[in-house]
Amino acid sequence: MGGAINIGKVFGIQLRIHYSWFFIFILLTLALVSPDWNSGFAWAIGVATCILFFVSVVAHELAHSLVGRANGIVVTSITLFIFGGMAMMTKEATQPKAELKMAAAGPACSAIIGGICLLIWLFAPGLPPAVSNMVLWLMAMNFALAVFNLIPGFPLDGGRIFRAVVWSRSGDFRRSTRIATRVGEGVGYFFIGAGVAVVVLSLFDMAPFGLNWFSGVWLAFIGWFLRNAARSSYRQTEWRETLRRFTADQVMSASYPAVPPDIDLARLVEEHVFTTGHRVFVVVGRERFEGILTLDNVKTIPRRDWAATRVRDIMTPLARLKVVTPEESALGIMEWMNGNDVAQVLVVKDGRVVGLITRDNLMRFLRVHSELNRN
Ligand SMILES: [Zn+2]
Repeated sequence: MGGAINIGKVFGIQLRIHYSWFFIFILLTLALVSPDWNSGFAWAIGVATCILFFVSVVAHELAHSLVGRANGIVVTSITLFIFGGMAMMTKEATQPKAELKMAAAGPACSAIIGGICLLIWLFAPGLPPAVSNMVLWLMAMNFALAVFNLIPGFPLDGGRIFRAVVWSRSGDFRRSTRIATRVGEGVGYFFIGAGVAVVVLSLFDMAPFGLNWFSGVWLAFIGWFLRNAARSSYRQTEWRETLRRFTADQVMSASYPAVPPDIDLARLVEEHVFTTGHRVFVVVGRERFEGILTLDNVKTIPRRDWAATRVRDIMTPLARLKVVTPEESALGIMEWMNGNDVAQVLVVKDGRVVGLITRDNLMRFLRVHSELNRN
């Protein structure tokens, strides 16, 4: 997810906050302080509650990540955003059991935190009312987090649990994903419908459970997010399943445009970029492969310096490039590219470059495959 800042590492997992999260942090703090604007104590409690809630969400995601790691799934980062948290995995579970444990860990963690809050509230009398209200609120939020995430629509935790169960029964990963995704989309549409209904009813002061137009908009917004998340998760699963069946030499492009290392950028753009429309070039000097040059490399140089800059000065040299063999799994390569944020790898056989795999390559390959599979 773009637009996020790193705030540190926990258990070796990068913790990130997306800008949209600050919006909800401020909104929540204001809502918690609202009856008592002038009291410093109310503000302190409001901010503390928000931070503890934030810690609860991180704990939920950490539970997923650590259980996942114990089962061989690599989690690289956790991002907090407007709808909660999200753990970034570079690999999916290969066994339904591992998926089940990993998915259940988050809601279990939230339920435990909720339980602890309940115990504190029950067995620590004499807390100032503001503090005991905070404990109660955190209890409710953590229980809500557990219950909401258990809704059986993919990619929510409940959807993952549901998929793992169908998967272990049928042994068919794709079909289980398809079913869980349909349910996930259905849940999304249900939320959108409920949200619109609440907005309409609130116009006539008839909205149930004390809901108002804002909660209606919020519900619809969550529904829209769930529907999109279900679709894009499904698409990613399809892609992985497709790539699993291919090797590097089947997805690479063997006819890559080559440019010499000594020409300047003005000439490169005039004679190679504009005429071929390519974004990636291999740099070959005197029969020897020297590196790769991308349009992004060129864009870092101001136009007035193009005539004075040569291809060799800004290319990524061979020593800094990832090299794979033609037999390597296409899925493994994509996972590696995503995990390391690299856009191209070289396919080398017996010391010779035989092809190039770029992210564009892979996307084109996948698009063609999904188009043909549809019929
Ligand atoms: Zn979760």
